Amino acid sequence: AMVTRLGPSPTGSVHIGGLYVGMINKDLAGRTGGHYLLRVEDTDQAREVEGAAEQFTRAFEYFGVEPDESALAGGEYGPYFQSQREALYLTFVRELLREGKAYLCFATPEELADIRARQEASKAPTGYYGRWAIWRHASDEDAQKALDEGRPYVVRFRTPEDGPLRISFEDAIRGKLQHEANRNDAVILKSSASSPRLPTYHFAHAVDDHLMRVTHVIRGEEWISSVPLHLQLFDALGFERPTYAHIAPLMKMIPGGKRKLSKRKDPEAGVEFYIEQGFPAAAVQYYLRGLANGRLAELPLDEALSTPLELDQFGVAGPLVDLVKLEGQSADYISTLSSEQVYEQVLVWAEQFDAELAEVLKADKDNAVKAIGVEREGVDNPRKDLRKWSDFRPQYGFFLSALFTPVAGPADERVTPLNVAPEVVSAYVSTLVEDYQHLDEQPEWFNQLREAGAKNNFAPSPKEFKKNPDAYPGSIREASQLVRVALTGSTRSPDLHAVAVVLGQDEVLRRLRALA
Ligand code: GLU
Repeated sequence: AMVTRLGPSPTGSVHIGGLYVGMINKDLAGRTGGHYLLRVEDTDQAREVEGAAEQFTRAFEYFGVEPDESALAGGEYGPYFQSQREALYLTFVRELLREGKAYLCFATPEELADIRARQEASKAPTGYYGRWAIWRHASDEDAQKALDEGRPYVVRFRTPEDGPLRISFEDAIRGKLQHEANRNDAVILKSSASSPRLPTYHFAHAVDDHLMRVTHVIRGEEWISSVPLHLQLFDALGFERPTYAHIAPLMKMIPGGKRKLSKRKDPEAGVEFYIEQGFPAAAVQYYLRGLANGRLAELPLDEALSTPLELDQFGVAGPLVDLVKLEGQSADYISTLSSEQVYEQVLVWAEQFDAELAEVLKADKDNAVKAIGVEREGVDNPRKDLRKWSDFRPQYGFFLSALFTPVAGPADERVTPLNVAPEVVSAYVSTLVEDYQHLDEQPEWFNQLREAGAKNNFAPSPKEFKKNPDAYPGSIREASQLVRVALTGSTRSPDLHAVAVVLGQDEVLRRLRALA
């Protein structure tokens, strides 16, 4: 069984890549009967953003990547906030100090700057290690004296001197890798002047991964260069090394190439984007699985969601995030849902992001469900006009009277592009309204539009109109488009008769009269 983990730092909103890596971790652990845990890596309190931990907890839950073990889900290996594990870290720091594998470093910021400058000037390998390290070789007496003087200090890891210059390790995705060994006496415990006294990420994660019995460290590629230090820490602490897998970052297509998806530059890099736009969680999962393994994108959604991911299928090149493709997959998925399901999900979304819509949906549920059912229920190819819940208002809002603004007569700017003279528009609509009947059969219903057209000299077909454009005010096509604009406010809509049936006779007449 694999035990995997995600260790987000609460320094801002969650990157979609974090969700992606979380999904991979959850999937692999779940399939092997293991555990996927979420640990909040909040040792860098200066960079902490208020509410970020709650935000990613919510996001992971929304997208079905909730952990088996976490502060919220519970677990026997907590606490799951690093800031609450101070005592545990100190135990291991003391152990390393006692074994001489770590030392107190009282170097001042000026001394450290000086070391960096000398290092840059020299051809010596970089790193605090070696001849530049001031406190690495200090005697116990000197250290004690500095302590007695109350000088602030950090605890540094004493990098082993006898190791190879290059180290190799196995990555489950990339195979055997060789990296320059770490030569830096990394800080493992932050300044004694700070409170609380927290370790650095590097040290904390090693202690946690061991104590939380993590077997597989599956994380973003940006951590590959830290593996040499991490291996040294695991070895020094006497912990078994985990298996590593480094996931390539999500990329974005830009003119002339591609680059990493960036929270700073790209709205779609943050998971909040997908929640605010109202992409269904299942569609996002489907899409992310397709990025992890292109073959899954070819499978139907339920199969793609249940087909396990394999580490050896991951590529070394980062997959491209393509919103148009996501929207397509999402529209496909939404088209498989029942009207009732769509209604419920739009409502949940609207309650958070569009209060007015939520009110209207609740007040007019029957109508809303009927509207959603147009060209959905009982058809082989349901409409795919909802790619995300925020599409509901622009695509379906007109069905709900409270959200619809009737046209303001024949000169309304939604009507004028049809190029029918205003007096003809009025005459046509008046004829139609006069004997309008609410008919269930589509052909008969349409005949009313034709007959009113014929009475007002509209050509019987677009072809006829084209042949002799001066003889007619338009064709039956313009006539029905007038009705469409009156009923829906747009020249594009679902089947007009189906719309009229949902609106009902009174509402149809009210909207038509607004055009006359
Ligand atoms: N706290 C690190 C981050 O925010 C996690 C690194 C790791 O997974 O080891 O990305």
